[in-house]
Amino acid sequence: MACRLGRVVSRPLQITILGATGSIGLSTLDVVARHPDRYDVFALTGFSRLAELRALCLKHRPRYAVVGDQAQARILQDQLHADGVSTRVLDGEGGLSEVAAHPEVDVVMAAIVGAAGLKPTLAAVQSGKRVLLANKEALVMSGALFMQALRDSGAVLLPIDSEHNAIFQCLPTDYSQGLGTVGVRRILLTASGGPFREMAPDLLSDVTPEQACAHPNWSMGRKISVDSASMMNKGLELIEACWLFDARPHQVEVVIHPQSVIHSMVDYVDGSVLAQLGNPDMRTPIAHALAWPERIESGVSALDLLRVGRLDFQAPDDRRFPCLRLARTAAEVGGTAPAMLNAANEVAVDAFLNRRIRFTEIASIIDDVLNHEASVPTVCLEDVLAADRRARDVAGQWLYRNGR
Ligand code: NAD
Ligand code: MG
Repeated sequence: MACRLGRVVSRPLQITILGATGSIGLSTLDVVARHPDRYDVFALTGFSRLAELRALCLKHRPRYAVVGDQAQARILQDQLHADGVSTRVLDGEGGLSEVAAHPEVDVVMAAIVGAAGLKPTLAAVQSGKRVLLANKEALVMSGALFMQALRDSGAVLLPIDSEHNAIFQCLPTDYSQGLGTVGVRRILLTASGGPFREMAPDLLSDVTPEQACAHPNWSMGRKISVDSASMMNKGLELIEACWLFDARPHQVEVVIHPQSVIHSMVDYVDGSVLAQLGNPDMRTPIAHALAWPERIESGVSALDLLRVGRLDFQAPDDRRFPCLRLARTAAEVGGTAPAMLNAANEVAVDAFLNRRIRFTEIASIIDDVLNHEASVPTVCLEDVLAADRRARDVAGQWLYRNGR
């Protein structure tokens, strides 16, 4: 990650929030609203919850809002006009990329969920913005292209995922020369283990979307909640860590830590292990990335270690969490394998949330897709998008074959 230091301008920084109506988007707005002297909301985007987006526009008065299609844009534009708000409403992929790359924008929060966030996030990177990356799927899909675009444009990429933000905080500033050169032995990626950490593996086939979305420590969107329950989230994060910190998959070890107080650790060759701790609240990494290298108030209460009392650790169980193994394999294979893993997972999670498949079939679908399609190198974005389409097709065929 390139280093362009903190606040070089005295006016408030203009921020675009991609995925403003989601969990990360709302937490970002919460932090931003605490610092009106530092940040101005330039653009907000949403996809389905139009009424929420309208309310956010009324509150934050962005220059632009972006919605999914023209019909939605017309409705929201009329409503905002009636509200006396001058926000201009754009739509579709073009609108998202426009507000991500707009010359007046300084900071882009990339918080759209899934592959839909890839193009606007890349547009922000290519335009040299300070990019706050929550949308891990974008990096998983197109890591090589993404990191090259970062080097070419001089954009600053700051990880929002709590684990990666923690690792970033535990690394020295000059780690981009290679983890070995700064004495790092391995990265310890912590995982809560999700709601099914202790459930007998045989019972997993009957769990419901409601159970899967009831995360013990974090409040998140539905897709990432299911990913956390299957530990695919940790698998995606393993791939994300490899790209962000130029690590090999074997240098990233997953450790289950049920309290979610340690957000990840870095193990150094001299035996030192550095950890970042905090309450499980995404406003901490968001505030860290917004202000880096400064520190600002996030609204998160101080960590009370005496109340936490103890910190536990255990190894993940492969039988219970096959998705983690599949992701590690995809990371090792490289090329388009992670993009296919991600696409298959998106189709499977959507089918699970819509009660078309069992929880345990998420891993079956991904396994089928990875066995069906060979990985090829990713030379350009079209390679990634084609792999994504093929994987979705194969996953769709699985659903059809199995009568779902
Ligand atoms: P969410 O479901 O709460 O919100 C997703 C946002 O994306 C919404 O604003 C939605 O309108 C928008 N969106 C969905 N589909 C879209 C489409 N096709 N086109 C344009 N916009 C679309 O999700 P979230 O929990 O806020 O997660 C967002 C991203 O951040 C994910 O990639 C997730 O993995 C990552 N992340 C989330 C957390 C967390 O605590 N929630 C933590 C770490 C990383
Ligand atoms: Mg995370």
